[in-house]
Amino acid sequence: MKYMSEYRDPELAKKYLEEIKRTVSRPWSIMEVCGGQTHSLVKNGIIDMLPDKVTMIHGPGCPVCVTPLNLIDKAIYLASEKGVILCSFGDMLRVPGSEKSLLEAKAEGADVRVLYSPLEAVKIAEDNPDKEVVFFAVGFETTAPANALSVVHAHRRGVKNYSILASHVLVPPAIKAVIDDAESKIDGFLAAGHVCTIMGNSEYHPLSAKYKVPIVVTGFEPLDVLQGILMVVRQLEQSQSEVENQYARIVREEGNPEAQKIINEVFEVHNQTWRGIGEIPDSGYAIRDKYAEFDATKKYNVNIAEAPENPLCISGQIMKGIKKPFECSQFGKTCKPTNPLGAPMVSSEGACAAYYHFSGMVEA
Ligand code: SF4
Repeated sequence: MKYMSEYRDPELAKKYLEEIKRTVSRPWSIMEVCGGQTHSLVKNGIIDMLPDKVTMIHGPGCPVCVTPLNLIDKAIYLASEKGVILCSFGDMLRVPGSEKSLLEAKAEGADVRVLYSPLEAVKIAEDNPDKEVVFFAVGFETTAPANALSVVHAHRRGVKNYSILASHVLVPPAIKAVIDDAESKIDGFLAAGHVCTIMGNSEYHPLSAKYKVPIVVTGFEPLDVLQGILMVVRQLEQSQSEVENQYARIVREEGNPEAQKIINEVFEVHNQTWRGIGEIPDSGYAIRDKYAEFDATKKYNVNIAEAPENPLCISGQIMKGIKKPFECSQFGKTCKPTNPLGAPMVSSEGACAAYYHFSGMVEA
């Protein structure tokens, strides 16, 4: 397949691996921030082919996994008790809330719909003027422009029965929180290429300079990830700490200014709670007052008690890179994709699901 197979070439992959082996002389821990990169590492067997001195730590970069339990409970409540049409991207549906998932709520009769774009949800609202429509707006900076656009679109068209339940998480503050965590010891980072496509690289320079860590903006195909690792290792071996762009075929230094403009029109930065991790300052988007009527949190003023997480699930430690999925006592036993105890076993970007499906450690 054009523009795909060239980034999966086994011969080139071998060359990158050999170059990494030739370059590395000391043990290094490198965190890939995004769950898409985790899947690429595990699914393609890269994790097992890297030299022992290179340890990959799987980061918190799975927005579905870090969406607060309480917000999932709110979404389920709106769909089940308030009769709203609850729209969402597909991977949110099986994430466990405190009592059930959105998929289970749907099976019980709630109107829960899987969409590929929030603009479809605005159309559903226009077609159903007697119903309220809520879009569960989850994601990194990557999905924020489309979610913001849906709000502007609804505003311009005078659609009053549309709102979004926003849970956006921002990558640079998460990297900072990981570095600041006393338990984690990361020498370098692979930043998430798709996020930088929107936001550019400028937010990473102060982080790299302050903490003296290399940060390489990296794509998701096997060769992208291998080249990103090589670039980080080269910097570490030469005591450098720069921001480099492996994903230059997509990412520009300035990102996508038009997308940033629409994000800033609708959202402002706020402190965000990450499921399993806690609150990280300035790490999320809240809807600006100007668009408050489209903020489902304000519109419905739902008060749902904070439910405790499953005590057996150590997803917080996994997402901070302190433990690997197979170090969880429930991995592959009581916790499987068909019966997930925590979000990292559900999401297509979750580290536990990646190890379950591709590591060969369990019979999937
Ligand atoms: S294997 Fe399951 S229980 Fe363990 S951390 Fe992952 S999601 Fe949680």
